[in-house]
Amino acid sequence: MAAGPVLEVESLTFQYRRATEPAIRDISFSLEPGEVLLVAGPSGCGKSTLIRAINGLIPHSYRGELSGRVAVDGRATTEVRLRDLAVLVGTVLQDPRKQLVASTVSAELAFGPENLGIPRTEMRQRLAEVVTASGIEHLVERTTDQLSGGEAQQLAIAGALMLRPQLLVLDEPLANLDPAAAYRLLELVRGLADGGTAVVIVEHRVEDVLEARPDRVLYLEEGGTRYLGPLPGFLDVVDPNLVKVPFSVHLARAHVFQNPSQMLFAPNVRDEILFGPRNLDRDASGFDELVTTSLARVNLAEPEVESRPPLTLSYGQQKRLAIGVALALKPRTLVLDEPSAGQDHRSATAFMQEIERIDGLESVYFVTHDADLALTHADRILLMRDGRIAADGTPLEVIADRERWIACNLRFTSLMEANARWRSGSERFLGAQELAAWVAEASGRTEEGRVSQASNWTRDMEEGLEGT
Ligand code: ADP
Repeated sequence: MAAGPVLEVESLTFQYRRATEPAIRDISFSLEPGEVLLVAGPSGCGKSTLIRAINGLIPHSYRGELSGRVAVDGRATTEVRLRDLAVLVGTVLQDPRKQLVASTVSAELAFGPENLGIPRTEMRQRLAEVVTASGIEHLVERTTDQLSGGEAQQLAIAGALMLRPQLLVLDEPLANLDPAAAYRLLELVRGLADGGTAVVIVEHRVEDVLEARPDRVLYLEEGGTRYLGPLPGFLDVVDPNLVKVPFSVHLARAHVFQNPSQMLFAPNVRDEILFGPRNLDRDASGFDELVTTSLARVNLAEPEVESRPPLTLSYGQQKRLAIGVALALKPRTLVLDEPSAGQDHRSATAFMQEIERIDGLESVYFVTHDADLALTHADRILLMRDGRIAADGTPLEVIADRERWIACNLRFTSLMEANARWRSGSERFLGAQELAAWVAEASGRTEEGRVSQASNWTRDMEEGLEGT
């Protein structure tokens, strides 16, 4: 195997003959033996064009204007015949049936090596190796027209491996595969890479490709490099609406910062709300309504508010605007960092109630020191202490152990005392108003003694006495 990179791409720009602008521009990277590179990006970003430039179809079969350089095994693709490149670079097309040429599986596997004049004994040996490595023993006796999409894919890869390429290029290899077959394919890819083959996988189902543990990611947008580097950095910059990424990335993206001014930057409230939808090319005819409903949802439907610079709003209003901005993207999940900070109790409560009413939100995660807010609005609470989860349960479950609660630097509030006193054994923790109403109603139903107790408690709560 050659020392140095298997593939070098230097300032590569290519414009198809009849096109008005380049399909890829100024792309540079190199690939070492054993490296797996994931190429991701929305459709039309230039992924297939890059593949064609790597396997030599550009410039040998596609006409256009090429600048920069692509070299495989140290040799510029412009200088090497396609036939010789085919030995170095194995390509598996998006639709593998298109590349099957023979009528039986074994003839298909023999096709490439036969064309290259590889001796029969050598070929038999390769065939046995490849069939085992790619797990297609059960297909060897079949004809190619009987294969399922997934099996055709396996065969196409096995066919490419028969030439022992230094570089394997896979164009959306998961498109035809069920999850189990996809898993097997990615294991095979990882195994090949561990054995020294360099692999380029083009795939927008990024989440699924992670199984093959790509060493680096090249993320293309509109023909240019948006990101080139290790996976974690990619997950920070990728737009989760354009490529399929793990749920944790979505979670991270609907995050509303604790300090709203960190996420407000547009010249006015309207532009702030439309920043995301515009970037995602959402239909502009719905923008007026989107601004109105987003503002109404976060209780900011005041005259002229749309044209004000966001940072001239009060802190609490900025906080609500920050959430309006997140909602304008119609997320399924919202993450709120200290939602009640800087808001008075009434706006904080009204705000949480608004959030609970939002259509299409499947889950809300919030981080807070405000125990009453957590207890009255969460279904489930993770109690944190020194970086660990001290308790995980319903509100009434997590407050059942007083010592643990105090050990987490929390206090028992009057509302908690009242809930503990009046609602022990019940399922749900009630907010102050709800509990007061419940107590008043219960007192109508109960005997004299409890009534006076109830009214004492109600009075205590109204006076805002905190439990000690
Ligand atoms: P992707 O594979 O990421 O979907 P492509 O490389 O197919 O992207 O396309 C990149 C750009 O090049 C697109 O604007 C596409 O229309 C254009 N393009 C692709 N193939 C050709 C071609 N054979 N002739 C002219 N333009 C093309």
